Amino acid sequence: LPADFIEALPVLEEIERAGYEAYFVGGSVRDHILGLPIHDVDIATSAYPEEIKEIFKRTVDTGIQHGTVTVLMGDDSYEITTFRTESGYQDYRRPDKVTFVRSLSDDLKRRDFTINALAVDRNGNVIDQFDGLKDLDQHIIRAVGKAEERFHEDALRMMRAVRFQAQLNFKVEKNTAQAISDNAPLLEKIAVERIREEFVKLMLSESWQNGFSDFLELGLSEYCPDFKGKKMELEELLDVHDQTFSDEDAAWSAIGYVLSLNHQEFNRLLRDWKVSNKTREASLNTLNLLHLFENQDYDLWNIYKLGIDNLPRTVQLCQMFLIEFDYTDLQKQVDNISIKNSHDLALTGKDICEILGVKPGPIIGKSMSQIERAVVEGNVSNNFDDLRHYLLSNQ
Ligand code: ATP
Ligand code: MG
Repeated sequence: LPADFIEALPVLEEIERAGYEAYFVGGSVRDHILGLPIHDVDIATSAYPEEIKEIFKRTVDTGIQHGTVTVLMGDDSYEITTFRTESGYQDYRRPDKVTFVRSLSDDLKRRDFTINALAVDRNGNVIDQFDGLKDLDQHIIRAVGKAEERFHEDALRMMRAVRFQAQLNFKVEKNTAQAISDNAPLLEKIAVERIREEFVKLMLSESWQNGFSDFLELGLSEYCPDFKGKKMELEELLDVHDQTFSDEDAAWSAIGYVLSLNHQEFNRLLRDWKVSNKTREASLNTLNLLHLFENQDYDLWNIYKLGIDNLPRTVQLCQMFLIEFDYTDLQKQVDNISIKNSHDLALTGKDICEILGVKPGPIIGKSMSQIERAVVEGNVSNNFDDLRHYLLSNQ
């Protein structure tokens, strides 16, 4: 057993002492067998949530209606989920009803892919009901049971398939791929946030092009916000040098770039995908910067206004899309900029009022912007006396 599992062993032992079964399940088992780092250790048990709460002193009701209780042990916490089956997927998403069961076998059946349907007991024995080990070995993503039915139950699983494909650099098995292709329209039933979560994980993976290519080929992109009819444009991303995206913002900017979107259209796309405001702003500014570099139409001031923090990401995208410009020279200039924003100026709006002997008004903003630009462009240094002097002599 790997260290993460050994640390969690007391949890399994406690549950078994109380007369129930408990296993390690899900992603941690998969990643352990692949020799990958384990994120979080998930535990499945025959004990009902109330029974788990009787066994352990410190628990949190994380998702008790779905059977999940978090157990706190020392500095660690573990999510313990009761074996369950799901039924009545009337709307192609999430079950109407979760039923707790006492058998591991029934619990494994409701899981999405064979590689995610493995369990490990406290002695390290692997329970492998669907040949998940073989699929792990052969690098295959295969639905548990009939793929078609499984995607009807929960259409998000189709996105999960291409996400795991990208993360693990696996192939989607033929029947599973066919079922995705046949049922891609069901994706429209799924909340954008859930699709986005899988899509972003896909794009930030080492082998994102592997997952992205099936995302396009199997027709999933057609049912994602603002991607309809854009397969050809999006395919341009498959031609770029094999680089990974440094963050979510970089991935969105690259998409905006290959779709040739203007500021407004890109803003719409990001809103439709419901990305956070922070990501939306950074992505919009990054794409703006990218266009400035592409058109050789940049100066220090507009780079600064679009955010110096967005620069490394933009430079990376320039490499990706073979946009050439002389960065070494620019970098020196950028490094010399002594402020991040107007708050870093050694002079406030109130100071300006006093120096100029005027009341607060639009003129203050204008003066502020004027000295900010002068500082950025290196025409005056950022200390009170120099700024005061600059202000008085540039009225
Ligand atoms: P990650 O490394 O992203 O956490 P994971 O496999 O642990 O990968 P989770 O979303 O954390 O993925 O889910 C944990 C487990 O629950 C999965 O391994 C799978 O067995 C099951 N599971 C999760 N989502 C679904 C779903 N939509 N349909 C069926 N089973 C699911
Ligand atoms: Mg997980």
